Order: sequence, then structure tokens, then C-alpha cells
Amino acid sequence: MCKPDAVERGLVGEIVARFERKGLTLVAAELKTADRALAEAHYDEHRDKPFFGELVDFLTRSPVLAMVVEGPADNTFSICRTLIGKTSVDDAQPGSIRGDFATTTNENLVHGSDSHESAQREIDLWFPNL
Ligand code: ATP
Ligand code: MG
Repeated sequence: MCKPDAVERGLVGEIVARFERKGLTLVAAELKTADRALAEAHYDEHRDKPFFGELVDFLTRSPVLAMVVEGPADNTFSICRTLIGKTSVDDAQPGSIRGDFATTTNENLVHGSDSHESAQREIDLWFPNL
């Protein structure tokens, strides 16, 4: 997902291009403003974290580009996470999306599913008709 900061900064083309260049295929995409219920369900695992409210405020403030990206094997989520870069701004390596374009940990441009199971859960959440 390109998060609100990515859409606001005009980085969607750059980000999608990186997945395509890698050899992954875009199979669904929708520009959509998430309501709080969707954002809270999306980040359900973080419900008890101190930054949860701020995270939901951020995700709902303007449109995101939700995407489904397909690859040749069931480790596509992992390939995507490598392209995206580490969560902490201090660790995100140059060459990754966050490493090249993000200067904060909370506004870090992209979300990526962190397992095959979470990818399935999130696809059901964002693309119920897919
Ligand atoms: P994402 O789930 O968005 O792909 P991630 O899996 O790399 O990110 P998570 O631990 O799932 O990292 O955290 C979800 C999001 O919450 C992060 O992308 C970031 O926007 C925000 N976040 C994580 N840790 C912090 C923190 N310590 N302070 C503020 N925001 C944070
Ligand atoms: Mg995560």
C-alpha cells in the first residue's frame, strides 16, 4: 500500500515502478480513503501500542493506493518487504523505498504484508470482491 504521505508527495509512480521493475505483477489497485474502522482493522495487531491512535489518524487522513502484487512464489510478501525497507527510519537502507524517500518512522510511505497469512487477511479487507 502506498500510504497517504506517498500519495501526497507524488511518489506513487516511483513506488509502483519499483515493484514492477523487480518483476512483480500488479493484479489489483484502488485509490481509496480508509475510514477509521478499516484502518483499525488493518492495523489490528497494533491496537495496544502507544502509537495506534496516531497511526490510524495518519492512515485515514487522505487517500492510499491499496494494491495486490503477485509474484512467482509464495514468498512475494518477503520480496516486497525487502523492496520497502526496514520499519525504523534509522535502519531503512538506501536502495529501499523507505531508505530512499522517508525521513520518519511514522510516515514511512509504504505498507507491506508481513506473511502469506497477513497478505490474505489484508486482501480480504481491502478487496472484498477480488
Ligand atoms: P507496515 O505494517 O506499515 O508495513 P512495518 O510492518 O514495517 O510497517 P509495523 O511494526 O507493522 O512496521 O508498524 C506499523 C506502522 O506503525 C509502521 O509502518 C509505522 O508507520 C508505525 N510505527 C511503527 N513503530 C512506530 C513507532 N515506534 N512510532 C511511531 N510509529 C510507528
Ligand atoms: Mg506491519
